[in-house]
Amino acid sequence: MRSLLLKGARVVTMDPQRRIVDADVTVRDGRIVAVGRTLKDSAARRPDPKGHGGTTVLDCKGLVLLPGLIQAHIHLCQTLFRGLADDLALEAWLAKRIWPLEAAHTEESVYWSAMLGAAELLLGGTTAILDMETVRHTGAAFEALESIGLRATTGKCLMDAASNPASLREPTERALQESADLCAKWHGAADGRLRYCFAPRFAPSCTGPLLRAVSDLAARAGAVIHTHAAETPLELQAVKQATGNDELSYLDSVGISGPRAALAHCVWVDKEGIARLARQGTNVVHCPSSNLKLGSGVAPIPEMLAAGCHVGLGADGAPCNNRLDAFTEMRLAALIQKPRLGPEALPAAQALELATLGGARALGLEAEIGSIEVGKRADLVVLDLEGLHTQPAEADLISRIVYSARASDVRHVLVDGRVVVKDGVLKTAKVEEIHRAANAQARRLRRAVGI
Ligand SMILES: [Zn+2]
Repeated sequence: MRSLLLKGARVVTMDPQRRIVDADVTVRDGRIVAVGRTLKDSAARRPDPKGHGGTTVLDCKGLVLLPGLIQAHIHLCQTLFRGLADDLALEAWLAKRIWPLEAAHTEESVYWSAMLGAAELLLGGTTAILDMETVRHTGAAFEALESIGLRATTGKCLMDAASNPASLREPTERALQESADLCAKWHGAADGRLRYCFAPRFAPSCTGPLLRAVSDLAARAGAVIHTHAAETPLELQAVKQATGNDELSYLDSVGISGPRAALAHCVWVDKEGIARLARQGTNVVHCPSSNLKLGSGVAPIPEMLAAGCHVGLGADGAPCNNRLDAFTEMRLAALIQKPRLGPEALPAAQALELATLGGARALGLEAEIGSIEVGKRADLVVLDLEGLHTQPAEADLISRIVYSARASDVRHVLVDGRVVVKDGVLKTAKVEEIHRAANAQARRLRRAVGI
């Protein structure tokens, strides 16, 4: 069947007018072809004249249809590290746990880490991610993503500076060559569902020549640059010492800024930095759970939005969250600003924008995803908000979605028009197999690093 009718839902379009309408949504060949009034059942089931077969109807009466949620900063390779690196400061978190665990990864463990993360994401209504893998075996993550059906822009992590642990450090040329090879193979794969990003870990882990080369390679390939920036004062200090420059100016000087760049965190950015990010059109990716759990601070997101910055949302990796849940991030993004700026700061509707339109822009896919509009890719989430925790039903719908809903309220999920979750069940992989294989790989990793 190439045509699907999602019938009778309350549709949160996130279109330029932010319309919320009772409408049927028709999907054909992976795209939204109509958002409008109901066809009669009999007409909907009639075979289409081009002979592609009939239209399948997905009954969404009483349900809420949302654009697929987008998380613009994820590390699928860390999903197996969940619960293995709690309650540590970022520097110790990286050096004692995350780097040794990443160094112990094999192709198989990267594959199952990606499957575990992607399954959790899809079941929780996230349909697209910007991902950073580790330095090795990124191809295995792409293979997992290809089979499970999540939309992903993924890149091999780049770490060529002398300060990196020897187990992860790579010669500059080799790191760049492997990135270029992965880009050639995966950028635009699976009918454009998979894309490549160039992913320097963060400024202190990379040499200047590598960062400059990344900027050129990404521009030539039409690819996103995905990195971390301004997460802690220590990081800012390290960059200042090494380059004499503040981190965001330094990144700009090596070509990592503007609409092609997605900078996770940006917690420690002053007024001038915010103005510069806005001017450049650089994407900031806010990770509220991660910033709280690692004690990094509260990013000045309302100030950034007021200045016109482009902002997306992400869970970061499982060990610093420990959920990969867009609902948690939306809720927290709204809540954490309020003690600082008052309860009016970052209202629910703005949080939902970050998780849809903001994410789409960070992935460079604003023309393709992020809203329910004719011509866009059919990345859709159907929510069941009948649970007691989202009642009463007459309350503001955006409030119910952002402040009350949970990942477990997701009923159906479509990516590229393909039903990947139906009635809360993952259709593209066996959850029992992921459970078993991911646990076996996590055990092996723990033994390998002695924790
Ligand atoms: Zn991260």
